Amino acid sequence: MNFLFLPFIAVLGAEPADFKIWNLGQQIFHHTQPAQVQLKALPAVAPHQQANPNLSEKCQALLTQVIGNAGDLDSRQILWQDFKVLDYPILLNVPQDAALLVGHPDPPSAYVPYQDAHLPPGLPMAVLEGGLSDAPTMDFDYPVNGRPVFLYEVDEQADGVFRTVVHERFHIYQKDWKPLLMALPGDWQEPYPVENVENLAMATLEQKVLADALSAATPLGIRESIRNFAAVRQKRLNLIPTSAYVLELSEERSEGTARYVEALADEEIYGNNAREQIAFMLRTKLGVEQLQKWRFYATGAGMALLLDKKGILWKNKVENGLSPWQVLRSNTPIDDSEVERRAQLMKQRYHYDWLLANAKELVEKYKTEKEKAWQDFINAPGYRLKVHFEGPPGFRNSGGKIYQLPEGWFIVHPNELVVSSLNTRLELHDRSVLNGPDASSETYH
Ligand SMILES: [Zn+2]
Repeated sequence: MNFLFLPFIAVLGAEPADFKIWNLGQQIFHHTQPAQVQLKALPAVAPHQQANPNLSEKCQALLTQVIGNAGDLDSRQILWQDFKVLDYPILLNVPQDAALLVGHPDPPSAYVPYQDAHLPPGLPMAVLEGGLSDAPTMDFDYPVNGRPVFLYEVDEQADGVFRTVVHERFHIYQKDWKPLLMALPGDWQEPYPVENVENLAMATLEQKVLADALSAATPLGIRESIRNFAAVRQKRLNLIPTSAYVLELSEERSEGTARYVEALADEEIYGNNAREQIAFMLRTKLGVEQLQKWRFYATGAGMALLLDKKGILWKNKVENGLSPWQVLRSNTPIDDSEVERRAQLMKQRYHYDWLLANAKELVEKYKTEKEKAWQDFINAPGYRLKVHFEGPPGFRNSGGKIYQLPEGWFIVHPNELVVSSLNTRLELHDRSVLNGPDASSETYH
């Protein structure tokens, strides 16, 4: 990604004059969707006889499933061009247990070298017993002995860590790509049209057609379904502003291809069919909240898989500045009248009237909830948190929703707040930092 922004936080007292601005450090962050596929269990991991130092079962499983499987994929070079997961040092941190440093040529002295005959030969490994404390949960350029490493704090099962490491490691690989040929027009001042009912309905239709295209079996079926998808998308794109279009291209290029690589790795190692994984995501009910980020993991990955299916050589083009949609569209020769005809046909086939009515309902609900959240925000006493991002927030683990206000402002819930945007991430784990003399933790919205 080629955007660099700093978020700032303003803590509001009763009057705007009380604004206090804090600059936050910048951190690149992406997160994968929650797992949406069934995972096959791997055979139990045999204990390592020569473990030195002794590793917990959890750490042994990490080495086998994450590093061992990644080494297997790297040796076969099947994910993407010359991309290799283990070409960049990785540090898996299990707090209170151990930090596993893999592929670092010169580990710090506190790290004890570790040998394992089951893992890729020639790959240096070292272990910091007890793990790291006070380290970020994720960092693409975490410095270890003067060398940047990919740091990831493990808080899930080893198979989930494997998929996440492949996905996030691919984002590091993407840093060498040329920028998207269409840049965002200036500051992100025009929010994504989340309240556009027709866009939501057409996006839902688009995902259904794309999911079915992934299941098409014959060359004719594939060709037809790609044309149908391209027609629906082309019609939908007429509904949104350029800034939203560029945002879509950008997200599908970065997150879509990362999800594509993750899906292929998952298929190779755990046997979960990549096209079925992505079709499942595409068929999951689409809400307003997924519109400006989450759905592009699946649409981008879906188009990537279609390009493969059609035998189009597309990866160089993406690395050189195009998004999967641009490559797919330029390989889909349908003119305006055919776009019109096919879009109409798809509307009939997938009961567009119903999709539209459903989208209307979802948008109305969103608007009502937003109005209530805004009133709560205005009326609550005490200090409040206001966050400005140069793009749509993509992730939260707080209980509440995020609501979009004009000009890039959002209402968020700082009850253990985590929000990330294009290249920024805000984490707030200790609400007491916001406590003014009279504020209590109940007053934040
Ligand atoms: Zn990502």
